[in-house]
Amino acid sequence: TPTATVFPREAPRSAALFDRARAVTPGGVNSPVRAFRAVGGTPRFLTRGAGPLVTDADGREYVDLVNSWGALLHGHAEPTVVAAVREAASRGTTFGAPTTGELRLAEAITGRVPAVERVRLVGSGTEATMSAIRLARGATGRPVVVKFAGCYHGHVDALLASAGSGALTLGLPEQATEDTIVLPYNDLDAVRSTFERHGDRIACLITEAVPANMGVVPPRPGFNADLAALCREHGALFVVDEVITGFRSGPGGWCELEDVSPDLLTFGKAMGGGLPAAAFGGRAELMDRLAPDGPVYQAGTLSGNPLATAAGLAALRLADADFYARLDRVAAEVADAADAALTAAGVPHRVRRAGNLFSVFFTDADVPDHAAATAQDTDAYAVFFHAMLARGVYLPPSAFEAWFVSGALDAEALARVREALPAAAAAVST
Ligand code: PLP
Repeated sequence: TPTATVFPREAPRSAALFDRARAVTPGGVNSPVRAFRAVGGTPRFLTRGAGPLVTDADGREYVDLVNSWGALLHGHAEPTVVAAVREAASRGTTFGAPTTGELRLAEAITGRVPAVERVRLVGSGTEATMSAIRLARGATGRPVVVKFAGCYHGHVDALLASAGSGALTLGLPEQATEDTIVLPYNDLDAVRSTFERHGDRIACLITEAVPANMGVVPPRPGFNADLAALCREHGALFVVDEVITGFRSGPGGWCELEDVSPDLLTFGKAMGGGLPAAAFGGRAELMDRLAPDGPVYQAGTLSGNPLATAAGLAALRLADADFYARLDRVAAEVADAADAALTAAGVPHRVRRAGNLFSVFFTDADVPDHAAATAQDTDAYAVFFHAMLARGVYLPPSAFEAWFVSGALDAEALARVREALPAAAAAVST
C-alpha cells in the first residue's frame, strides 16, 4: 500500500524548482509560510490536487491537511466547483461592471450570516480587514484600533503588530502601528482597563472569531460576547474577523454559533471556493457609509470577479447542515488520533480544538494566549511535520497554524493519516 512508503527527505524536482523560484521571487515564494522556514527542508511544489490529496513535482502523493489554509471546504478540484468556474469563464472572466454572480454571492452571505445586512466583496482577507477598520475609523471619527497578540488579520500595517504565525519575526516602522493597541488574548481585564483609559479614542476592537494564526486558541466561553458588550458600552465598533471561520465553522460562521452580534465582520478563504474572494459586511446603517453612498472610500478592479463568485457560490451551496456536522466529526477524528498517538509516545502536547478548527501544541502547559503558544517546542513540531510528510501527510509547515480538514477527507485518506501518526509521534520522542 502507498502508506508503507517513506519518502526521502530530499525532493529533487521541488528543490530545482525552488532554486529557480528564488532567482525571481523573494524567498522563492509568494507568501512567506510556504517557504518551510519554520520546519526546514524543501518546500514542495504542488502540481495537482484531487479531493483530499495533493501531488508534488516529484510525483509523491499526500493527504492534504492544509487545504489552501482553509480556502478549500470541499477539497481539491471538487467537480461542481470546477464546472461552475468553467461555465463562468466561458462567459467572460471580468467586466468591472455589476454582475449577477456578485449579487447571488452577496445574497448567499446576507442570507447565512445574521449580523450581515449589507456586504461588500473584495479580493483578499487583507483587503477585507483593511477596509473594515477604515470604515470603523470613518464611522466613529476615532483613530485607535485594539487587537490581540497572536491574531492575524492580513498584512495591513496597523494590524501587523504581534500578528501571530508568519509575522512573528516581522519588523515594522513605529508610526505604522502607533494607533494600534495590542492586548493578550482571552484577558478580559486587560480589555476592560484599556477601554477605561482610552475608550473615547477607540474606533474598534478587532479579533479573530477563533484565533487560528498562533495555532488554534479557542476563546474562553463568553469572551466574544463580553468583548461585544465592552465595545458597545464605549461606543467602539466590534469587528470580528471570520476570514477563517466564516462558512467553515458553520453556515453562519463562528459568531452565529455563539450568538454574538458583531458590528462588522470580515470573510475570505472558504467564501471564494478556492478562488480569490473576500468580503466585509455588517449593519446597513454602517455599511452605507461606504462610497458611493457615503464618504468612506473603498474600491477594487477585480472585486466580485465572476470566476470567484461562481466558485464561491458553488462551494457554499454544497455546504449544508449535514456537511458541517461531518466536517466537525472528521476534524475531531484527526485531532483525537493525533492526541492519542502523541500520548502513546509520551510526547508533551496539547490539542486545542474549536469545532472543526484545531492544532497541536508541543507543550505541557495550557495555551490561552500568544505568550503560551510561542512557548511551545517548535523543533519538536518540525520533526513531527517531516515525519508526517515522509509518510504522505501534508501538515501546515509551521507550529503556529491550524490544521484544516475538508469534506473530501474520506475513510481512506483518514486511514493514511492514522497510519502515519504513531511513527511521527515516535520520531518526536526519540
Ligand atoms: N484574517 C485572518 C483570520 C486570516 O487567517 C487571514 C489569512 O490567513 C487574513 C485575515 C488575511 O487574508 P488573506 O491572506 O486573504 O489576505
